Amino acid sequence: MMGVAAMVRDLQRIAPNGIREEEFLSAHTTLAIGGPADVMVCPTNLREAVATMQYVGARSVSCHVLGCGSNLLVHDDGVRGVVLKTPPALNLLRLGGGEDVRLMVQAGTSLREVLRFCLTHGLQGIERLAGIPASVGGAVAMNAGVYDCTIGGHVRRVLAFDRGALSPRYIFADECGFGYRSSVFLAPDAPVILAAELGLSRGCREEIARIMRERLEVREARHPWRDRSAGSVFRNPDGYSAGSLIEQAGLKGVRRGDALISPMHANFIVNAGTASADDVRRLIDEVRTAVWQSFGIELVPEVRLWGFDETDA
Ligand SMILES: Cc1cc2nc3c(=O)[nH]c(=O)nc-3n(C[C@H](O)[C@H](O)[C@H](O)COP(=O)(O)OP(=O)(O)OC[C@H]3O[C@@H](n4cnc5c(N)ncnc54)[C@H](O)[C@@H]3O)c2cc1C
Repeated sequence: MMGVAAMVRDLQRIAPNGIREEEFLSAHTTLAIGGPADVMVCPTNLREAVATMQYVGARSVSCHVLGCGSNLLVHDDGVRGVVLKTPPALNLLRLGGGEDVRLMVQAGTSLREVLRFCLTHGLQGIERLAGIPASVGGAVAMNAGVYDCTIGGHVRRVLAFDRGALSPRYIFADECGFGYRSSVFLAPDAPVILAAELGLSRGCREEIARIMRERLEVREARHPWRDRSAGSVFRNPDGYSAGSLIEQAGLKGVRRGDALISPMHANFIVNAGTASADDVRRLIDEVRTAVWQSFGIELVPEVRLWGFDETDA
């Protein structure tokens, strides 16, 4: 196993302005929870990002990829090896011609910024995703979406770093394995998304703005958006709403330490103070047991766990 000091020295040559040692991931997750990464690398451009991945890949150093941290529960002890944060500086938006527009967006771009761009230029297709806090990379990896729209439905191809070949390659939509909040990019050692090409069409700006506004209002009314959370903790089982199962099991408002099942929406666990990852994890386990005992239904977490051996990715 490579020493952290040597790794830091080498990585400083690759991404001179982007190396942080013992960086607490609580500062990079919307739950505001998570211990330190040995090294966090925040490359300032695609070249640095690729060189970083080539470096860690060639030495089999563990490497977690971080977007906006809005779907993550990170262990209180943090994670070993490198966390690569795809930064906003990786932004690049390019507009194709004609009625059907292809938009190439780098992974670190926030979905919010992409939607703002779509609104300005009258591009329709993903306006229903307004309000999902995500980077493009995280959104594509998770196939983020709402009941009537997912980002995967608009991905044409993805430029991704292949951790085996140690080089970037294009992956076309039909190879991305998009499913309900899943894709091939969530598998262990899966390619790292560097950019995604979205297929959109030209539309009416007023209509796009109306849909975005409507979706934001619905979120504001139904979700605890002012609280620190990682969004929906569990996937909806086929034919059921995870939130109503948790509510019917009598768990709304239950608190363990500072982790609280939101009284507003039972599928959200919020950090109501200084919750630890352990508080949240205990609550997750308790919810799964209670829903299983009450309804015989197994809830599967949507939130990604880092630093907990069994589901680390
Ligand atoms: C208030 C709130 C509301 C939410 N509402 C919704 C919703 O309506 N619908 C929905 O789908 N989600 C929702 N979420 C969850 C979250 O916003 C999405 O899952 C989002 O896609 C995560 O993106 P991210 O950039 O934050 O990814 P992160 O949380 O940083 O990472 C999530 C996963 O993606 C992987 N990943 C990140 N970037 C890359 C990359 N470049 N290449 C490969 N893998 C990568 C990570 O390794 C990790 O496994 C909500 C979250 C919050 C806090």
